[in-house]
Amino acid sequence: MPGLDQVDVKRIERILNIVLDESRPPVARCRLLSTGMAPYHTLKVTEDLAGFKGCLACGNCIDVCGVLTREPRRLQRTPQRTSLALEALVGEDCDRCYNCVLVCPQVDTTIKHYVVNTHLVEGMARLLQRVDSAEDIFWAMES
Ligand code: SF4
Ligand code: SF4
Repeated sequence: MPGLDQVDVKRIERILNIVLDESRPPVARCRLLSTGMAPYHTLKVTEDLAGFKGCLACGNCIDVCGVLTREPRRLQRTPQRTSLALEALVGEDCDRCYNCVLVCPQVDTTIKHYVVNTHLVEGMARLLQRVDSAEDIFWAMES
């Protein structure tokens, strides 16, 4: 849950593009490139969490991942709802849809806006292509 003073994407653009162009879940690395928890979070803990970049185990990235939606049996391999679990379950089968980055409360808005402005259209086109090929296979099996 970053505050208003977020990472300047221009400073990390090269590494961010490397992360976004790989077929692995990008959310954990985007989280680490972010600024971390804002000092005015409302979690009831005694330690100072300002700047904490860790996974909150909220499970949002698990819930929106298309790979896990299409193959729910993968989800049964672990009850964990963390970015580590996402990486273990998806591996190199990531669609690069970037949903996990967009829903993670620990990723800076600046990074999310960069993803939307530069990678989302191409990611959706890739997904549509995948759906079209799946439909072609389905119709070939039916005929
Ligand atoms: S949500 Fe999208 S980008 Fe994230 S791991 Fe799943 S397929 Fe990959
Ligand atoms: S969405 Fe939640 S579970 Fe996934 S990486 Fe972010 S904080 Fe962790």
